[in-house]
Amino acid sequence: MSYSKELKSELCVSVKTTFKSKCCRSALLTGLLLFTNTFTHEKIKSITESESVAKLTIKLLKEFGLTPNLYETEKKNDGEIYLNYKITVPVRREVESLIKELGYGSDEPLDHIKRELITCDKCSHALIMGAFLAGGFVNPPENAYHLEITTSNEALCRDFADYLSECGLPAKVTTRKSSSLVYYKESAGIEDFLSYIGSQKALFDLMNVKIFRDLRNNANRAANCDAANIDKVISASKLHIESIKMLIEDGRIELLSSDLRMTAMLRLENSEATLAELAALHDPPITKSGVNHRLKKIIEFANGQK
Ligand SMILES: [Zn+2]
Repeated sequence: MSYSKELKSELCVSVKTTFKSKCCRSALLTGLLLFTNTFTHEKIKSITESESVAKLTIKLLKEFGLTPNLYETEKKNDGEIYLNYKITVPVRREVESLIKELGYGSDEPLDHIKRELITCDKCSHALIMGAFLAGGFVNPPENAYHLEITTSNEALCRDFADYLSECGLPAKVTTRKSSSLVYYKESAGIEDFLSYIGSQKALFDLMNVKIFRDLRNNANRAANCDAANIDKVISASKLHIESIKMLIEDGRIELLSSDLRMTAMLRLENSEATLAELAALHDPPITKSGVNHRLKKIIEFANGQK
């Protein structure tokens, strides 16, 4: 089952307990119908791959006094067989009376959201959930962040984008072939949207993937950081050792103070030690900056600067 389908099933189950009032159910049905395949003053035709969405649409249409038909057809995609659910309402009179009940005038184009329809504080959640159930798609959280709601009606798409902004869920709008869509590409926008329509599962999945991604990024960062530090230690040590060897070869090592000679010998014998480790090897131990200072002096001496 695709991830979108899974989420839609979960949302359909939640409808029973979340949207009990007539106002919310009418908002939910409006969202479902506006973003379905055909919704005009003459007819309703809805095609979905989700059995749950099909059942919910049928249930709501019946609640509003309509007599919908349901057709199931088998489809093949990449060798996989799945069912398509087609819902139609053949009686024009029923469609007309429903449209009236949903608040649209008899000639009014069905290309916008009637703000008057939103009466209680749950209505807009129901409407947006309906739109997602009918025209929505979301990538699984382990893939690139993407959530979209598609419609063939450009005016509706623009009005829906405005409506989403009014609800604090600003989305981007674009067109693809003959359809218009609102979409989200960042995790924050997708999280807000899914939480608005009440998808607990989606939020949980997103959070899990995020935690995993953070852990992996931190581990990578730590590994890179260690590698960079080791490189630094080794290249600094190489420079020290070259200078010390030069001093030994030309005999000038004897001209160094006993402190500097001790540090030089320890460096030579412990080429991979960090400054802190080198500091601890001194007898008596000295500080890290003390070692740094001595090594600097040795290099300067080797280069004839002192
Ligand atoms: Zn309501």
